[in-house]
Amino acid sequence: MSRVKGRPRKIAIIMINYPLRPPMPFWARYLSMAFGILNVIGGIVSSNFQAISFPFIVGLLVGGIWFAFGYYGGLPLVNTVYDWQPPNIPNEITDCHRQGLLVLRRRKRIMWASVPCYFVVGAILMPWLEKLGHPDVGFILIATVMAIIFFRYYLSRCPRCGYGFFAGSTNRAALIHRRNYCAYCGLSLDGQNRSKK
Ligand SMILES: [Zn+2]
Repeated sequence: MSRVKGRPRKIAIIMINYPLRPPMPFWARYLSMAFGILNVIGGIVSSNFQAISFPFIVGLLVGGIWFAFGYYGGLPLVNTVYDWQPPNIPNEITDCHRQGLLVLRRRKRIMWASVPCYFVVGAILMPWLEKLGHPDVGFILIATVMAIIFFRYYLSRCPRCGYGFFAGSTNRAALIHRRNYCAYCGLSLDGQNRSKK
């Protein structure tokens, strides 16, 4: 069963020492944390202190994400293998790397397969939520699930070098790029080595 084989274990017992990724400079971290707090305050005030309201939930969600982004100094990465080891030879492709690539390709399939589901779920949920007077709750729910599924793929670690597979640099605050290979070590999604210039 190749699907099961490629699945990372839910609980990692061994502490993995992934390569260090420097965070954003302090001023940028404080700025994004302050922006997060402002978003939360803005959400609370504009909702007239009503907890179940669109501005309140969005303010809390968006503010919380900005605060966490600043606190961590960038974006976290999602593991693709549970027993990652730094490669012994730069271009080697081991079974562990192949398993990680299986996980990556599965995340990609799930991501694209989920897109029509948002419309279907939206079409089913919305009339009912509108009757209840909270169509915005459906929007928040769908957007949150969508963001989690998309970021789970685009924030995946490279199973070989341990940096972000889609990250533009080795910094925590790197931009995310859509491509089929790791920019750092050149491992491609289909298990090849991309030749470097
Ligand atoms: Zn890599």
